[in-house]
Parts: sequence; C-alpha cells; structure tokens
Amino acid sequence: MIAISRRSFLLGGAATLAAPLYVGRVYAADVDVVVIGAGAAGVSASRELRRRGLTVTTIEADGRIGGRVHTDYEIFGAPYDVGAHWLHFGEENPFLEYGQNNGFDMYRAPDEEVFYVGNRLISEDEGRELEKARRKALSAISKAGRKGRDIAPADVVPDLGDWALTVNLYEGAYEIAKDFDHFSCADWYTAEDGTDWYCREGFGALFAHSARDVPVTLNTAASKVRWGDQGVEVLTDNGTIRARAVVVTVSTGVLASGDIEFDPPLPVKKQEAISVLTMGHYIHVALQLKDNFFGVGEDGYFAFKSTEALNGAPMGFGALVDAGGHGITYCDLGGEFARQLSEEGSGGMYDYVLEELKKTFGSSVESAVLNSSTFDWTASPFTYGSYASAEPGGAWSRAELRRPEAGRIWFAGEALSENDWATVAGAHKSGLAAAAEISGTL
Ligand SMILES: Cc1cc2nc3c(=O)[nH]c(=O)nc-3n(C[C@H](O)[C@H](O)[C@H](O)COP(=O)(O)OP(=O)(O)OC[C@H]3O[C@@H](n4cnc5c(N)ncnc54)[C@H](O)[C@@H]3O)c2cc1C
Repeated sequence: MIAISRRSFLLGGAATLAAPLYVGRVYAADVDVVVIGAGAAGVSASRELRRRGLTVTTIEADGRIGGRVHTDYEIFGAPYDVGAHWLHFGEENPFLEYGQNNGFDMYRAPDEEVFYVGNRLISEDEGRELEKARRKALSAISKAGRKGRDIAPADVVPDLGDWALTVNLYEGAYEIAKDFDHFSCADWYTAEDGTDWYCREGFGALFAHSARDVPVTLNTAASKVRWGDQGVEVLTDNGTIRARAVVVTVSTGVLASGDIEFDPPLPVKKQEAISVLTMGHYIHVALQLKDNFFGVGEDGYFAFKSTEALNGAPMGFGALVDAGGHGITYCDLGGEFARQLSEEGSGGMYDYVLEELKKTFGSSVESAVLNSSTFDWTASPFTYGSYASAEPGGAWSRAELRRPEAGRIWFAGEALSENDWATVAGAHKSGLAAAAEISGTL
C-alpha cells in the first residue's frame, strides 16, 4: 500500500503558496479553450465546446487520436483493440447507440466461460468452492463500500484459503487493474455495472469514426501550463497557445509523472488527489493462432486457478478467445503482477503467457502462434498505466480533481467519472461535463 505522507504534501505546498499567480502580460487569447489530449474525454470536450460556440484547439502528443481506445488493423491484418474492447454498461453507453446507428456490427458479449485447474477443467466441487470464495470476497468489499469505508479490500476480505490468489486476481487485477491492497472499497462501490457489448470492427474503430468531426493537432505534446487569472498559456513542442481556459484530459499517470509542468504548481489538495488516484496495470498479450485449443468458441473466455504469487502479487491471466471471430486471442495480465512483468518488456510478458498456455494445452500451442503483439500501457509515456482508481484512503480524490482551478484549468478523463470510471463511456461523459461547465463560466 502506498504510504501517503501528508507532511510531504504540505511541504510541497509551501512552494505553491509562495509562487506568484501567473498574470503575465495580458495577451489576446488565440482561442477560448485548449484541450490537451484527444482520447475519449478530449474529443467529447472539444466537440461540445464548439457546439456551445467557443473556439477550441485540441492537441494530442501521439500521432493518432483515441488514446486508450484504439483499433489496430496492421499488426494482424484484422481488427485488434490495443486498449478498450468491451462496451461496458450498454444501457448507458452512448457508443452502443452510435455504433448501431452507423452500420457497425454491435452484439452482446456472450457469457461462455471455462475455468482450468492446472491442465484439466475445474471439477463441479471446485467450481462451487470458487463461487463461494468469490461471493465472500464481493460481499465483504460491498459491505465496506456501502458504509463508505475508505480501506483496502485486503483489510476486509476473509481468508479464502486455497482460492485467495485466484479471487484477488479476478476481482482485483482484472476488474480494477489492481490487487486487493491497492484500491479503496468506498471508491470501488461507486462503479455501476450493466451488460457488456462488443463491436466486431473494434471499439477503437467505432470511436475513431465517431470522432471524425473533431479537428485535432497531432504530434503536439503539452509540456507546461502557465495559468492565472488572465488565462492560460500552453507550451508545446510546436509553440505556445494562449487561451482563456484549458481542459487537461491526460491520464492521472501522466499528471503524476510531472511531464506537464504547471506554473504556478497546482494547489496542494489537487496534487494530493492526483497522487492517490493511481493507475492500475492491464495489458493484452494478443496472439493470432491457427488453432483453437481452449475449449471455448468465438468471444468465449477462459481462466486458470492462480497458485503462485510474485512478490505477493497473484500470478496468472485470463483470455478472450477469437475476439470477434478474427482469430485473435487476448491474454490479459493485470495488477501488480502485470506491472512487474512489464519491467521485463513485451518479450517477458509473451514468454510468461506462452509457457502457461503450454502447461495447460501442450507444447503444440507454440507452433500454432502465427503472430503476436503486446502493447505495454504501463511503460507508455502517454498513459503510464491502464486506468485509475483511488488508493485506500483516497476515495475523495475524484471529486477534488473535478473541481476547476481559478476558473481556468479543468480536468477531464476516465478518472474523473462518478460511476463509469475506467471506461471509454465514462471518459466521454467527463469531457461533456467539463465542456458544459467551461461554457457556463467563460
Ligand atoms: C488495456 C486496456 C483495456 C481497457 N479495456 C476497456 C474496456 O474494455 N472498456 C472500456 O470502456 N474501457 C477500457 N479501458 C479503459 C479506457 O480505455 C479508458 O478509460 C479511456 O479510453 C480513457 O480515455 P481518456 O480520454 O480519459 O484518456 P486517454 O485515452 O488516455 O486520452 C488522453 C490522451 O492524452 C494524450 N496525451 C498524453 N500526454 C499528453 C501531452 N503531454 N500533451 C498532449 N497530449 C497528451 C494521450 O496520448 C491520449 O491520447 C481499457 C484500457 C486499457 C489500457
């Protein structure tokens, strides 16, 4: 668990209080609003600000839009969602309706799932034990969350015996991208749930289609935001943009990295919020296989019993087989184990997955691999992780990050969503909310 020293924040804060607010010369603003980042939040904020009559420049550090929702067609010659793939909570997900109205093949995620213990299928008795252990864990976390207890699941989940690592992996690392000691029950409890959907052409392709109307300046990274009551200046590697306000939509991983400097520094409370809203780790090791060994068909899921830990982190992965019928299997690593493996690079992650598959399905798996790809979101300087959640003791942080600074700086993105966090839809809605507030203020 990260020990957050309030004292170190207060010391950091002394500099903040002493720093003069940027007033600069009173420049004519180039535009009303600069939007930093063109993922789901940046694109929706940008579009909504324009719709409300404001002038906007949207900059993106990468050479493409989408951020964490991106479909690659090159690697496998078929759609491969490098980041987000599930349209969560279809009932409230605006991208489902968009896809249905724009000729995409949208379908409900099937429930088909198999579970392995070593190299055999789970027995009925074991299945019942696993289900019991899962329910015990979820009920303990829900109970604590309902009462607003801002503590780690590790502090409330009872001993789950032989199934402890597995439940930690599937309810922690897979759902939240963190293990049971790194998120807050109170924060976890705010997430809504509903039916999951897929887009056969790829969620990233659907998102990119929906974003065609939004102009974005690519390959332009913000390095500094000067701000004060006169407005903002955003320094980029392609020059400086002056505006009346800025919407910062980068991940909390990027915010915490210091890659974007704020001058003067953000207030202490904001810095503290960023530092407790930490990024989890979730990475697809994608395999294109000529055979399906896994005992489930298209869009089925298989998982294993976890029996080992690496420095306390449960080891294992789960896999979505033959996603969308395109022959690509997403083997997903999550949590602290994924972070540790990411230090070994993409090769280390691939080797681990392949060895585990060989143990269960035999050595012929290796020769069946036609192609593979692993994008390391943890190492990416555009994200530094997969998605954010509050550390124990940090459940207040999302609301703090939603508060603008001096009527000039707004934040938006998945991490700021009230009950859709860690999702594309949540990021999109957060961008809309920031845009509405800005247009009201300006
Ligand atoms: C592996 C993985 C699987 C996921 N699975 C799902 C899923 O199935 N379903 C789901 O709904 N969600 C999923 N998510 C989460 C989802 O992708 C994110 O919640 C969402 O896309 C975040 O959008 P955003 O706009 O908040 O941030 P981002 O997408 O990160 O957008 C921020 C943008 O800012 C850019 N940027 C960074 N630094 C700078 C800078 N200095 N200057 C300018 N631009 C900068 C980045 O390049 C990026 O494009 C997954 C994420 C990952 C990583």
